[in-house]
Amino acid sequence: MTNPQLQEPSFRESVDLMFNRAVRLMDLSPGLENKIRVCNSTYTVRFGVRLRGKIETFTGYRSVHSEHMEPVKGGIRYALTVHQDEVEALAALMTYKCALVEAPFGGSKGGLCIDPRQWDDHELEQITRRFAYELIKRDLIHPAQNVPAPDMGTGEREMAWIADQYARMNTTDINAKACVTGKPPHAGGIQGRVEATGRGVQYALREFFRHPGDVAAAHLSGILAGKRVVVQGLGNVGYHAAKFLSEEDGCKITGIIERDGALVDEDGLNVEEVKAWTQAHGGVKGFPGATWVEDGASVLEADCDILIPAAMEGVIHRGNADRISAPLIIEAANGPITFGADEILRKKGTVIIPDMYANAGGVTVSYFEWVKNLSHIRFGRMQRRAEEARSRLLVEELERLSADKGLGWTLAADFKDKFLRGDDELALVRSGLDDTMRTAYQSMREVWHGRDDVEDLRTAAYIVAISRVAQTYRSKGL
Ligand code: GLU
Repeated sequence: MTNPQLQEPSFRESVDLMFNRAVRLMDLSPGLENKIRVCNSTYTVRFGVRLRGKIETFTGYRSVHSEHMEPVKGGIRYALTVHQDEVEALAALMTYKCALVEAPFGGSKGGLCIDPRQWDDHELEQITRRFAYELIKRDLIHPAQNVPAPDMGTGEREMAWIADQYARMNTTDINAKACVTGKPPHAGGIQGRVEATGRGVQYALREFFRHPGDVAAAHLSGILAGKRVVVQGLGNVGYHAAKFLSEEDGCKITGIIERDGALVDEDGLNVEEVKAWTQAHGGVKGFPGATWVEDGASVLEADCDILIPAAMEGVIHRGNADRISAPLIIEAANGPITFGADEILRKKGTVIIPDMYANAGGVTVSYFEWVKNLSHIRFGRMQRRAEEARSRLLVEELERLSADKGLGWTLAADFKDKFLRGDDELALVRSGLDDTMRTAYQSMREVWHGRDDVEDLRTAAYIVAISRVAQTYRSKGL
């Protein structure tokens, strides 16, 4: 049997093909079009670290796709599958993602070829600090020039090491903390960053379901509650998205796909319980009360309302696109659908909420964290109690009026509680993220519905993003 994936373009080519499909509908000069498409630079570093009595050599990358705005922004991925093509594709997606959600950054991405599970904490710290040292030395980590963040295989812990490494090498830089985002809150991070990408997926779906015409385009009807959802990947993004959708929006998680197979349960899986099981047992196999399917990828094809690929790129390809039955796919991962699969799904009428929008919650909250670091003050610190005092004035005045006039009004206790509570940092972060996801969706759908030649949300997203990048280049005189 021939492997249909072999005929697929690479990830970077796939992103470029999607870009090309959009620019054909735009009026850009060929020179500018090419300038935006190409990746500006990719730095490859091979460094040695003495571990377990011998020198281990690691290969890492930091790619800068576009510097139309600086700093450039994008995560650092730790995986054995990391290679230059992938890092460049991801860097390009960062450029478009930031433009779409109006985060004032260019696009970048980094990666280290490593299986983080092979090393203990101390070893990973040594490796991370050494990698960071190589990048910092070349201003490839810098608060004004290049600001990494977590991605697959990295998290708060790695970001804290990177921030500390930068501070050690730049002892007088007052903005040192802004050199990386996704730090733990006690090390200069922001509340709500860890779950931000999953939250963004939830807010994106909520916004989608506010538009009955869009819901109908996906051959669905009604509200988000009750929808049957299959999620691939219970990592940071998939776990939070599935958790919030099931616990807060009434969705039923009917399938969870992991490395060692998939779990299926038409009555809905409990995400917390599955997560706890995978942490204890290293996979989903054996989870009580659900059916385990050995060929996890086959569950991508399962009958459901919403499919959330939240793991790797290229999982929906020419070989399986035809068999995907979900009418709505939201790309929580970067690049889960290849260009070839995208064309097949489009013809089938599947609606795809594209990655550059769907998973932009992470970089959006990264933007808030970066601003917080530069302003050296927690969001809400100045206003919170002032807001509460003003609300209290109003409540007390209402109560006084009611008593004076003998009206007998009493404000409901939970209304009073909610009304009197000033917004803390987490509430402000959520508000900013929600606003960002709504606004960006509306800018995409305006193009999707406003133009006869645009058939899908992905092309619309590219058009919005590319025109913003083009505008910045033009204003620079290019
Ligand atoms: N790695 C995440 C992404 O792909 C977050 C990037 C960031 O926060 O800068 O969007």
